[in-house]
Amino acid sequence: MHTLRLLLGDQLNAQHSWFDQTNDDTYYVMMEMRQETDYVRHHVQKVVGFFAAMRAFAKELEKQGHRVIYLKLNAKNNLQDLTKNLSQLIKEHNIERFEYLLPDEYRLDEQLNEYCQTLDIPWKAYDTEHFYTTRDELTDFFKGKKTYLMESFYRHMRKKHDVLMDGKEPVTGQWNYDKENRKTFPKQFKLPDRSSRTHDLSSLVQMLEAEGVETMGKIDAENYRWPITRREALADLQIFCERFLTQFGDYQDAMHTEVVFGYHSLISFALNIKLISPKEVIDRVIDTWQEGKEAVPFAAVEGFVRQIIGWREFMRGIYWAKMPDYAKLNYFGHSRKLPQWYWTGDTKMSCLRHAIKQSLDYAYAHHIQRLMITGNFALLTQVDPTAVDAWYLGIYIDAIEWVEITNTRGMSQFADGGIVGSKPYVSSANYIHKMSNYCSSCHYKATQKTGDKACPFNSLYWNFYDQHRKKLEKNPRIGMMYRTWDRMDAKTKTALLQQADKYLQEIDEL
Ligand code: FAD
Repeated sequence: MHTLRLLLGDQLNAQHSWFDQTNDDTYYVMMEMRQETDYVRHHVQKVVGFFAAMRAFAKELEKQGHRVIYLKLNAKNNLQDLTKNLSQLIKEHNIERFEYLLPDEYRLDEQLNEYCQTLDIPWKAYDTEHFYTTRDELTDFFKGKKTYLMESFYRHMRKKHDVLMDGKEPVTGQWNYDKENRKTFPKQFKLPDRSSRTHDLSSLVQMLEAEGVETMGKIDAENYRWPITRREALADLQIFCERFLTQFGDYQDAMHTEVVFGYHSLISFALNIKLISPKEVIDRVIDTWQEGKEAVPFAAVEGFVRQIIGWREFMRGIYWAKMPDYAKLNYFGHSRKLPQWYWTGDTKMSCLRHAIKQSLDYAYAHHIQRLMITGNFALLTQVDPTAVDAWYLGIYIDAIEWVEITNTRGMSQFADGGIVGSKPYVSSANYIHKMSNYCSSCHYKATQKTGDKACPFNSLYWNFYDQHRKKLEKNPRIGMMYRTWDRMDAKTKTALLQQADKYLQEIDEL
């Protein structure tokens, strides 16, 4: 029986049981499509990274003896649409059965679901064999509960998968070491070397240009550093464990004008396209700690494990529990545009300039840059969450909707009204000044609240709380802010609100 098996661009799991055996009657199909390059404006490194990894994966499958049909973006017979291509292939190769792996994105899940209803051959969807959890596991876990609490989900995951546990208790007696992971970079420091890797991706870049695919950001041999094969992804993981893990915890939230990647693992792309699995990442990190060679502090290990089996799986669960409505949530009713300098980084605000320029250069910013710099500013300036989503979905190498939208619309913009987080992540200049050296090279003054040189974060922060008082003042984690606001005299309040208003009017010039 001729079977067609679809592999999407983020389903490059070489360990999947599908590949245990070769079969001449089974065709694997992979496609580069305008449907995928054009649904949002992507960073050029993201499109190139996906296509390069897909091409390498297809080659590897062929080497193992599997039959692969690979449609390049510029292939004459490429209809640029997933289901149109599938129909064409089913006819051309006399396909008698269709199989696919469950997509992680709602739009592709719907598209394939609807398509399969129209088929007159048998079809079946399989698990991707990547995540710790199934799509519905989080919903089942929180059944009957009013709120989703990440910490309780995380503890459940630790227990269920016996990760850093001693029987029913956490191995050190303490679940969470978050408070120990908040250092800033000292005056003098030297980061360990990253692996240097060069890929010649020029032919892919030329193809995108020739086909008129619109992208953003830069690419050249120096700034493209993302893995395209499983071997490279495993090498990155090894280097992270050997050189960076020891200080991952300490500097997880720190930001610096001379630092792009810091002590972060840079494995989100490899994980999200499934070159490596979360389990092998967790196992490797725990082994490094247990071997003791690198003297890894437990706080670093726990902090890292929480990101992977906690946040990453939690976000996936929220996505499947709440889509498709989630993509429309706008709790505050925000409707402003993103400032135009989000596409260039040309702003006088040092923190935003650094976070955006490095995102355009490397398709990467770390969590706190995404949350407390670009996300914080978009929320304080009341940007439409759909515009914020589109920016994040485009610019980052690891941006796939299930993990992008829950982080952006949920955690960062609080547009879900508190499904992901219990309060909005906003801050004045104080936090940025404390966690980075950005403010020392800024046109604005972190300590000034009003006047020409006042840091915009300061007045926008109070303006945000003032505007959304009805929605926020009953939140037990925020009440204190309103008491501080209420204690300010009327003149100070008016000056702050006028300053914020001025900045909102002149936002493209900031
Ligand atoms: P590290 O800091 O080394 O962390 C290790 C791993 O933990 C990451 O690779 C990632 O797989 C996981 N992780 C950490 N935090 C989260 C989180 N909040 N949610 C899910 N997984 C997490 N992550 C994406 O993978 N894709 C996205 O599109 C994405 N968009 C984001 C948008 C916003 C506004 C914010 C605040 C965060 C977003 N994140 C996203 C989460 C996080 O910022 C990235 O996973 C991380 O920066 C990737 O870099 P790293 O691999 O060096 O991570």
